[in-house]
Amino acid sequence: INYQTARFLISAPRLALCPPDTGAEVAFAGRSNAGKSSAINTLTRQKALARTSKTPGRTQLINFFTLANDEAYRLVDLPGYGFAKVPDQVKLEWQRHLSEYLYQREALRGLMLVMDVRHPLSEFDQMMLGWADEKAMPVHILLTKADKLKPGAAKSSLLAVRRQLAEWEDLVSVQLFSALKRQGVDEACARMDAWLCA
Ligand code: GDP
Repeated sequence: INYQTARFLISAPRLALCPPDTGAEVAFAGRSNAGKSSAINTLTRQKALARTSKTPGRTQLINFFTLANDEAYRLVDLPGYGFAKVPDQVKLEWQRHLSEYLYQREALRGLMLVMDVRHPLSEFDQMMLGWADEKAMPVHILLTKADKLKPGAAKSSLLAVRRQLAEWEDLVSVQLFSALKRQGVDEACARMDAWLCA
């Protein structure tokens, strides 16, 4: 699939308002500021396909993008947030929408979980992994901002995350990524191809 063909389709505030649950989609999740928007923009070679919201607690939308002008193939941007800054009620509401999406969305083929290579496996990440595990949903982890570490340190972080998730190696894969250096693009696209074209 040529991910450069990604185009905005629609924003949905909750599952009931998502596009029809047919075809195949890959969703991106990440704690706020992890680098999710940059990863989506890098993978699709677009400057501002995924916009970053720097306002915690404001209405969070699920954004859908078509691939190759075909609504049957989609990328989905699930906004994350900084846990600490959001009021409990907003937190719970958003957790409900996210878990609903993950549990019920038939078209979902896999989850791309974006983590800052320097702070992997946050509370948010563990929650997403827990839900994915319950649904046996495959997860591919992008350890992004790899350019911020020396190569040896980035490799150590990769191996440490792999080790911590070894129990789930059938469902979870992990790679280094950098939006700045365009590192890891082919590997990430190959994973999405495998999910979308299966
Ligand atoms: P989001 O909130 O997860 O969508 O995060 P953003 O994509 O907006 O990125 C948060 C911050 O990290 C921004 O200042 C980005 O420029 C920076 N950033 C994202 N990816 C990378 C990367 O691969 N390398 C470096 N050095 N900075 C990055």
